[in-house]
Amino acid sequence: MAWLDSYPSIFSDADKAPLNEIRAECKPLIHELSNILDSEQRRILKGKLQQYKRKYIQLYYTKHTRTIGEGIDWDKLERISRSNELKRLRDMKAVRGVNPLNLNKLEERILALSKARCTSLTEEHLKDSYRCTWCSFPETLKGIADINSEIEEIHKSVAVISNEWTNTILNEIETYRDNIELLSDPEKAVIVEIGAERRLPDEIAQDSITALNNLFSELREVEISPREIVDFIFSEFSVLDYEAFSRKLEEYKEKILERGEKRNIRIKRREV
Ligand SMILES: [Zn+2]
Repeated sequence: MAWLDSYPSIFSDADKAPLNEIRAECKPLIHELSNILDSEQRRILKGKLQQYKRKYIQLYYTKHTRTIGEGIDWDKLERISRSNELKRLRDMKAVRGVNPLNLNKLEERILALSKARCTSLTEEHLKDSYRCTWCSFPETLKGIADINSEIEEIHKSVAVISNEWTNTILNEIETYRDNIELLSDPEKAVIVEIGAERRLPDEIAQDSITALNNLFSELREVEISPREIVDFIFSEFSVLDYEAFSRKLEEYKEKILERGEKRNIRIKRREV
């Protein structure tokens, strides 16, 4: 059972102590060949091994349940992923000027956590297999530790993203206020309502997205990844003095300005 040592975040030393104790008790019994041949000693050894197995099953089963089984509020994750708030964000990300990066990350996380779910294991199964035959816990849990607290974080993130995007959109409406009169009457009505309510409707219709995108039609989105900037700055030399560094930054800024008028440019973080 040395593999338990490979997952110190799941099986702590305290968890393994009772198992190690039994192992230590078995050692002298196995050490002497005469013990193995002696039926009384064999009986003791067998008892110890059974005890070991029982304790192991208990430990494994408890950890499995608490980490990815019934101990996790899977219903809550399900509710979040089906929630109107999340659906609303999926609609909102089609609005020009909004950066979908954080939502995409959140959706990937929901998927990764859902995949870790395993509620099939029973203690009975562990009598024939030392690991869960459905998920091989904890092997598949790379980068996943406390799922309940992650679900809590995801829940909060939905509100944080929604706030950020609402502010972005309201600010852009303000920026392009003069263009409202160029819109059709129904589009004007949508924008005026969003401006007055200071929020987007609970159900975001395609008409609202189109109205916003038409209002923001001059807006130029420039996506850049952290990697891209760094590669550009160090494209000629891997060491720069301050002046050279500053020149490269200016060059990069000018390259962005080639994409449109300064007031219309929005720089979006992208990740690859
Ligand atoms: Zn499992």
